[in-house]
Parts: sequence; C-alpha cells; structure tokens
Amino acid sequence: MEIEIVAIGNELLLGETVDTNSAAVARRLAEIGGRVVRVTMVGDDPERMAVVLREVRGRARWAIAMGGLGPTGDDRTRQVVAEVLGRPLVLDEEQLEIVKEKFRRFGYDEMPASNVSQAMVPRGARAVANPHGTAPGLVIEEEGFTLFVLPGVPKEMEALLEDAVLPALIEAAGKGAPVVESRVVHTVGIGESALAEKLEDLVESADPLEVAFLPRTGQVDVRLTAAGLPAEEAGARLTALAEAIAGRARPWFWGYDDTTLAEAIGETLRARGWVLAVAESCTAGLLGGEITTVPGSSEWFAGGVLAYSDEVKTSLLGIAGEDLAAYGAVSEETCRAMAAGARKVIGADVGCAITGIAGPGGGSEEKPVGLVFCGVATPEGAEVRRLTYPGSREDIRRRSVLTAMGMLLRACRGEGGAS
Ligand code: AMP
Ligand code: MG
Repeated sequence: MEIEIVAIGNELLLGETVDTNSAAVARRLAEIGGRVVRVTMVGDDPERMAVVLREVRGRARWAIAMGGLGPTGDDRTRQVVAEVLGRPLVLDEEQLEIVKEKFRRFGYDEMPASNVSQAMVPRGARAVANPHGTAPGLVIEEEGFTLFVLPGVPKEMEALLEDAVLPALIEAAGKGAPVVESRVVHTVGIGESALAEKLEDLVESADPLEVAFLPRTGQVDVRLTAAGLPAEEAGARLTALAEAIAGRARPWFWGYDDTTLAEAIGETLRARGWVLAVAESCTAGLLGGEITTVPGSSEWFAGGVLAYSDEVKTSLLGIAGEDLAAYGAVSEETCRAMAAGARKVIGADVGCAITGIAGPGGGSEEKPVGLVFCGVATPEGAEVRRLTYPGSREDIRRRSVLTAMGMLLRACRGEGGAS
C-alpha cells in the first residue's frame, strides 16, 4: 500500500517547525504494511497547494494532506481541497455541534464565528471528530483515489491517523497482508566500519531481511527490516538475526529497539547487586543526569561528586593535592583516583569518572582540547581510557558521557578492557 503525504504550512518551509508529522505517519504506516512513497512540503499558498494536490490526485491511490485546518485566514487547506476535488464546502451540522460543545467544555461561553469554518466539509466527505482539538479530520473517497485531510498539530494528527486513516487502509488491504517490521540492535564504542567487518557474513546472508548501519555520535545502530513477509515469519527471522548480530557485536552490543543505554546499565548493575557512584569534572553532572533518566534508578545509583575544580577533587574526593599537582586534573592518574574516590566517599560498589578538556579554550600541545579520560572502578578492577574527541564543547562532553557509559556497562558485565 503506497501513500503520498502533502505536508502543508508556511512554518515548515521557513524551517521554524520540523515536519515530524510525516515521520510519524511513515513509522506508523510501516507497522501495518503501508509505505510512504513521497512527501511534498508546500506553504499555505492556495495556488501552489492546488498544483500539488492535483498532481497527487493524478498519481496516487492514497494520500494524506495535513496542516492548514485552523480557523484563521492563513489556513486554506479546506478550501483548496474543495476546489481541487470539485466539491463545494457544506456545513456539517453534526461537526458544528461537536465544535460548539468543545468550546462549552473548555469554559468559553460562545464559539467564535470563525470556528464555523472548521465544520465546513467538502460535499460527500466524511468528517471524523478530533479528540484533541476542534478541526475534524476528513476522508474523501473518489474512484481510485482516497484523500485524508488531517490537522497539523502533532497530537491531533496522530489521533486522527489512528481513528480515520489506519482503519480505512487496513480494511482495504484485507487480512493477512504482509507487514514491514523492523528491529534495532544498539552498540556503543565501536566504529561503523569495524562493526560492519565483524558482521560481514551475517549481512551478506541476511536476505530476505535488509540490514542498515545507522551511525550516531559515538554509537552505531544496526536496523533490520523485514518487508513483505508474513508476520510470523518476519518476527522469527528478525529475532534470529538480531540475536546473531548482538552475539557477534559483544562487548559493544548493549540492547534492542527502545531500550536505552542507561536502562541496560541499570539492568546489569541490578543483576550484580551493585550500586554506582560517579565523579564528573568536565561533564559536570551530564553522566549522572543520563544515568537517572531511568525511573527507579535509585535502586542502583547512589549519587556523585560534581568535581569541577581542583579544590573539590581534593576536599570531596580525597585526591592528594601533590598528585593533582604532579599529574594534572586531566590525566589518567587523576581519573583513576576520581573513580576510586567516588566509590569510597559514597560507599558504592562501582565508581565512574570523567575528566577532560571540553574547550574551546584551555588546551595545550600536550593536552589538547578534546582530550578526555574516562574511568571505571569495580570490585573486580579498574580501567581508564584516554580519548581525544573532535567537535564543539557540547560534542566532546556528549561523547565523553557515552564512552563512560559504554565502559561502565562492559565493566559491570565483566567484559571490560575492550578498546
Ligand atoms: P495547522 O493545522 O496548519 O494550523 O498547524 C498547527 C500547528 O501544527 C502548526 O503551528 C505547527 O506547529 C504544527 N504542525 C503543522 N504541520 C506540522 C508537521 N508536518 N509536523 C509537525 N508539526 C506540524
Ligand atoms: Mg498552519
């Protein structure tokens, strides 16, 4: 089932609003075996919109137009759709009552006159009530062409996608339609090409599944897609390949699909009965913040020391002043002492530390901007890694957190020491 999207709104073309709606539709349709084949973005200009809608009508079997259903004069989608499809706007009394009732419920005495426009529908169109707003969704069926018109506000769009679009597509597709399903295998700490080499034979023999490498800063995801297979077969094949890849990608593999790295760390700490403490210099709390995105993390995360200055490294983490002076705040020795210090002063099983030069100033030839040390100390031993990262202050701090989290996970799994 191939669907075209027309995303409407000047704010999209100005770059003020990112078209998240098309992405949301594409993801949701893929789950039911549909496929978005083209997205056209157009402003609120009636003529340009009409050109696009005519083209889409001439070429597509299914289309979704979204945005421009507001009550104000700058929202023109309704009128243009009516004109292009040759169906004059008529008042839908039932929708008018629903819109009026919404205003009463929201505590307004009277519906502004301009909202009457939202109950105007192209003749013969079916209006679907909007649970989160006033503009109903519209379904317009012609011979060989169905157009869904949805509001632009993401929450409203998503609700009407479920209520108006998906049921029609699922019905048209009939039962037993093949699905597009995907699974993601997450890794951290290994580059894309190195990972691809390790997985080469698995990727080559993946057919009929498709494998894509999706690098993000400091991480590589591997996405597996099954298209056009019966649901049961797709699920079984995806699981088998995902597990094979995960096994091969150890120790860099950390989880599947919607799992987060912090959740994977928490699971591992819980399984070992260990509690974590952190000591952060250049990231100043970002690591602790990321770790505690997991609800219930107090079970395995005790706290940390935000040791930005040398004084705090000495007074709160107990690092000897002479050592700091001798090695410097950004050094393997200090990082090791910070991880050990966090364990000790907080009384945790595991300590994790980050110290580095995030820039843009403060670098030297010997210790350039981007030089970072990440360290982990567990009851089984300690490890410190020296890294040099490119990019902005924000990039360097983000990468440092990721590296520390990857090391933490591996150390807690007893797989530390991997490069
Ligand atoms: P509209 O239906 O044109 O009145 O849109 C209302 C609001 O929804 C706009 O102000 C945008 O912020 C948002 N919006 C419209 N189109 C999109 C889109 N394609 N993706 C995400 N947000 C959107
Ligand atoms: Mg608009």
